[in-house]
Amino acid sequence: MQSKVYVLGVPIDSITMEAAVKKIETFIQGSQPHLIATANAEMVMMAQQDDDLAAILNSASLVVPDGAGVVWAARYQGNHVQERVAGFDLTQNLLAEASKKGYRIYLFGAGPGIAEKAKQIAEKLYPGVNIIKTRDGFFSADDENEIIEDICKSHPDILLVALGVPKQEKWLARNLSRLQVPVAIGVGGTLDVMAGAAKRAPLWMQQANLEWLYRLLRQPQRAIRMLALPRFVLKVIMDKK
Ligand code: UDP
Repeated sequence: MQSKVYVLGVPIDSITMEAAVKKIETFIQGSQPHLIATANAEMVMMAQQDDDLAAILNSASLVVPDGAGVVWAARYQGNHVQERVAGFDLTQNLLAEASKKGYRIYLFGAGPGIAEKAKQIAEKLYPGVNIIKTRDGFFSADDENEIIEDICKSHPDILLVALGVPKQEKWLARNLSRLQVPVAIGVGGTLDVMAGAAKRAPLWMQQANLEWLYRLLRQPQRAIRMLALPRFVLKVIMDKK
């Protein structure tokens, strides 16, 4: 069963990891392009101020609850959310399916060499996975046409885009019809983690909903950005009253 719940106006799909993977596989079989977003509290807060981002999330084919904060908020409001579907884990599950079913994967984004390293590691973890191309995410406006043409002619089934939020969602929304990919997912820092350039919180912290704290301790430069989190909690509580 899948339904949409709204967290501060952002539609979130209440879906299990397994169902999300299956749904994405049905997108691959079709001919329409699909934009998939992985929503956390920071993204929801950005969407409060950024109408373009809010519109993109409203028309996305799938918005999975990436962050523990989003799951908490939905449940706090009395809505049913099946489980957290973290973008990193979703990516790993898709790569595992891709290795069995031959899906073509294109990795686009992150710093120089990171996507290539992520590819090498994925090839070890998921033997037979077909990562057809990688490309870093630092480019100028002049490079855009060439990037789009390259993606088009590579015919990926799944395009993973790691340019950060909201750049990746906006880039995808702007170019989706030209890209001709059935599935395009904004994956944020996933390639950095896959490549070993960034670390994910240990499992116990993930399970204790403390991934945000781990990020804050590892990347104190994110502190300003992360002020969105207490503001998110307050807004959710105030909105319920
Ligand atoms: N990035 C990129 N191009 C840019 C800006 C950022 O490729 O112009 C990459 C950056 O190197 C990093 C990712 O986008 O790999 C963003 O990671 P972050 O953890 O900040 O993701 P978010 O929290 O925004 O989802």
